[in-house]
Amino acid sequence: MKSSESSTPKVMLVGAGPGDPDLLTLKAIKAIRSATVLMVDDLVGDGVMRFARKSARVVYVGKRGGCASTPQAFIEKLMAAEALKGERVVRLKGGDPFVFGRGGEEAQHLREQGIEVEVVNGITSGLAAATSIGVPLTHRNHAHGVMFVTGHAKAGEESLHWPTLAAAAAQGITLVIYMGISTIESLQDGLLQGLAASTPAGVIQHASLPKQRHVQTTLADLAGMVRRENIGSPAIIVIGDVLRATNCMNQAPELGMIQGIAA
Ligand code: SAH
Repeated sequence: MKSSESSTPKVMLVGAGPGDPDLLTLKAIKAIRSATVLMVDDLVGDGVMRFARKSARVVYVGKRGGCASTPQAFIEKLMAAEALKGERVVRLKGGDPFVFGRGGEEAQHLREQGIEVEVVNGITSGLAAATSIGVPLTHRNHAHGVMFVTGHAKAGEESLHWPTLAAAAAQGITLVIYMGISTIESLQDGLLQGLAASTPAGVIQHASLPKQRHVQTTLADLAGMVRRENIGSPAIIVIGDVLRATNCMNQAPELGMIQGIAA
């Protein structure tokens, strides 16, 4: 949605990217700079916050699986109240606001109250995590597509049917799993019903930040590796043959051709 010149109350839902401030969009930086009230998720990197005005009111509304978190209803109420007071409200969310993380619900709730919502994309952590270890998610020698899925079901709902997903992945679809660490044993068991035990699997924790760590193994060893190496949340799991294409320098013939044309 485009911003308007009118005084309609407005909230911007802004993607803060995976953590590295260099991965913010210019539009996100402009929004953060203009905010008088910032409501910030716990996955938003500290480096991102240096763009905020000193005078801005910053409210941390962190939510982490298993930990006490600010209730969603409270966050939505506070955003609406501040916008209605005429504050320039920016809701900063990790990655992209519309890839998991409940940005869709928040936008809906605000619009129902007559509040204008502008959404600014961010680089989602699934993309950043794969790229940070050199994995081209849809390398055409290895994959026909990519699926972004969550390993964490909404309370009271069934999680994904992993064997069905495995059947799709076996057709050459890369799987990128968000929020999958706490359920890694069961998702591994389900995926093994449709994918070879030797399918490459990788896990990237804290993608794009100096504390980033990653492991690479096979689907059969995925949960074991994660527990042995003590990889925790936030992490992205990537499963598929594209992990065999991590070293971009292996593409020497193509690179040579491009250089040849340029010369
Ligand atoms: N909107 C976010 C996703 C929110 S759900 C996005 O687009 O990235 C929260 C999950 O995102 C985490 O459990 C983890 O799976 C993933 N995540 C977010 N930031 C991450 C990071 N820097 N490194 C690895 N995973 C990350």
